[in-house]
Amino acid sequence: RYMAGWATKIEGSTHEHSVPFALQAQMVAYTRREPVGVVAAVVPWNFPLLVAIWKLGPALAAGCTVVLKPAEQTPLTALMLAELTQEAGFPPGVFNVVTGDGPGTGAPLVSHPLVNKVSFTGSTEVGKLIGHACVDHMTRFTLELGGKSPVIVLDDCDPATAAAGAANAIFFNHGQVCCAGSRLYVQKKMFDRVVADVADHARQLTLGHGLDPAAQMGPLVSQEQMDRVCGYIDIGRSQGAEVLAGGGRAGERGYFVQPTVLASVRPEHRVVREEIFGPVLVAMPYDDLDEVAAWANDSPFGLGASIWSNNLSQVHRLIPKLQAGSVWVNCHSMLDPGMPFGGYKQSGIGRDMGRAALDAYLETKSVFINV
Ligand code: ADP
Repeated sequence: RYMAGWATKIEGSTHEHSVPFALQAQMVAYTRREPVGVVAAVVPWNFPLLVAIWKLGPALAAGCTVVLKPAEQTPLTALMLAELTQEAGFPPGVFNVVTGDGPGTGAPLVSHPLVNKVSFTGSTEVGKLIGHACVDHMTRFTLELGGKSPVIVLDDCDPATAAAGAANAIFFNHGQVCCAGSRLYVQKKMFDRVVADVADHARQLTLGHGLDPAAQMGPLVSQEQMDRVCGYIDIGRSQGAEVLAGGGRAGERGYFVQPTVLASVRPEHRVVREEIFGPVLVAMPYDDLDEVAAWANDSPFGLGASIWSNNLSQVHRLIPKLQAGSVWVNCHSMLDPGMPFGGYKQSGIGRDMGRAALDAYLETKSVFINV
């Protein structure tokens, strides 16, 4: 609905020209925004329909056509969406879906010379490959990539509220969220209390089938992802992390991983630096705001960050210091179609959603008419 509104509000501007030697001439100068053309949207498996819509909405509002490649693990919602667009009467060719894996289908699609813009959401590693491929044809591209988002708890706030927020920030969608709050920083005097509470939350989560109403957390997407996440937990252990909750696979059937909380970790540990993309939280104590800002920013990523505090002065001091595309206060992973979402640093280039997203699907043409 938000992006549909933009379709009738795309506008250029008129200008008085200022070139001295041409001042005698009567010149009409204006800009017009034009659709960039054919958009290739390559999306991941964690929110297959939602992320597809993040690309489709602004592309259609701008007047572009779209070729969507869903992740190989999750093609069905994209195909259903294609059926719905047919039923809704989209002209043929406006919305297209091609299924397949990354190297076989994604790579040829993003390097196709007739594609004018690529909009990608996925890993930083693949995002870099796509960026390189796009430059060959000067294909425009926006990338929404990985994260290792900090959750920062200040010592003025209610520990139970902060712990519940921190647990939700990491365990929502089983941690398979690019902006998951995967690093928890708690001010020293509250550290033990908050982290013990988060570990309790982790232990109390009910794992089960996605269609079971009693289940609070489902399985991971694939065996590969489960092995990867369990591998990271083992790496954490071998580097000296203390396992406060969880610690590995849950049960023998299905790709379930226990909600896991790791403490006694150091900034250089792999579990602190690398994106795990699963229900694994690392927790660290800090002394003051300058220290926690430095640690929060000590990451190649910069997608999100949350601050838990009711001390407005402290919160406002911290917000500008954080290198993150989204900062949430007393909430986490809050998104809105009208608010731009994207990353600083290696978390991406450009923004999804909001007015900023629309710009990425438009070219600007400057027109001079000597009348
Ligand atoms: P995730 O970590 O979420 O699996 P990936 O970056 O591996 O993220 O995959 C996200 C999307 O990118 C998927 O649709 C995948 O098929 C696609 N993809 C993977 N490799 C490439 C590639 N080399 N070129 C284009 N698309 C790719």
